[in-house]
Amino acid sequence: MSMEFQLLARDAAARRGQIKTAHGTAETPAFMPVGTAGTVKAMLPDQVRETGAEIVLGNTYHLMLRPGAERVAKLGGLHKFMDWPGPILTDSGGFQVMSLGQLRRLDQRGVVFRSHIDGAEIALTPERSIEIQFLLDADISMVLDECTTWPVERREAEKSMRLSLGWAERSKKAFRARRGYALFGIVQGSVFDELRTESAKALVGMAFDGYAVGGLAVGEGQAEMFRTLDVTVPLLPEARPRYLMGVGRPDDILGAVARGIDMFDCVLPTRMGRTGKAFTRRGEINMRNARHAEDPRPIDESCACPACTRFSRAYVHHLFKAAEMLGPMLLTRHNLQHYQTLMRGIREAIAAGTYADFSAKTCAEIDLGDVPAL
Ligand SMILES: [Zn+2]
Repeated sequence: MSMEFQLLARDAAARRGQIKTAHGTAETPAFMPVGTAGTVKAMLPDQVRETGAEIVLGNTYHLMLRPGAERVAKLGGLHKFMDWPGPILTDSGGFQVMSLGQLRRLDQRGVVFRSHIDGAEIALTPERSIEIQFLLDADISMVLDECTTWPVERREAEKSMRLSLGWAERSKKAFRARRGYALFGIVQGSVFDELRTESAKALVGMAFDGYAVGGLAVGEGQAEMFRTLDVTVPLLPEARPRYLMGVGRPDDILGAVARGIDMFDCVLPTRMGRTGKAFTRRGEINMRNARHAEDPRPIDESCACPACTRFSRAYVHHLFKAAEMLGPMLLTRHNLQHYQTLMRGIREAIAAGTYADFSAKTCAEIDLGDVPAL
């Protein structure tokens, strides 16, 4: 039953593995591009696949409001609807209810919010979130939780974490276990060690198919995030996948993999790509910057994506200055490929037992920064 997770290699705490879902396999450590409203913005699904991505993330909040989970189910589920035959993970909708929706009420029962699209009042309970993710046909569903705000007092963080534990239990009861399908619990507790410990232990007691670490990358900073992972990850079962939600930049991913994380998602490569920012081996560059206007070089000489093999920095700069659609399309493609190339390097290094060297070398190269044209 449930979803198979196979550990193929270990290098200190870093893990190389495979998750086997009803819609195929994903190699881990994995980065999941964010397909918010049933599309990875500006990309055809086969282009997403070409970057090396094997699993994408869908947002329950967006899809429940538009086009609606029942409609997606009627049309054959999210895989068919968006023509992504591979694995899909959906979030619970909770995070976006609190960040995008107008929150009306939050208590033990669940949340009531106003849609940011038409103002309609909608209730989301743990049971409804699981039902929506079932209707979407998500391979991996997430429990409904409250993403604790930052900064937060310990008492508040404790109350929020306990509320999430209650919702996790109800989510587990509502989930229909099927072969190749998984439900992940989410560890909360902000940056308080005792709260993270309590949350992790209680969730492990409920026996989820995988475990996410939530409520990080919300402003606490990388050092505090890594410290929290140092406390939390060792409490999670070796045999189940671990997912760090909403993280992050390449150096965040490298540090989290070293601490035993297997899965990641983040809007940065896609969102930043749409605004003209490129991730390269030597850090982030802004393609709108005038210094690229006559630069014949590719965005990143080491990248094999179409943006880098077919076009110059000058051309991509021009596309953004002229507000041409191809600009965001090319940079989204490039950034996603950059992330997937990083993940492949990570997986190879773990398998070879050279992860610490790989991570140090990659971080040092990012720190060197981009070299302007002569
Ligand atoms: Zn590229």
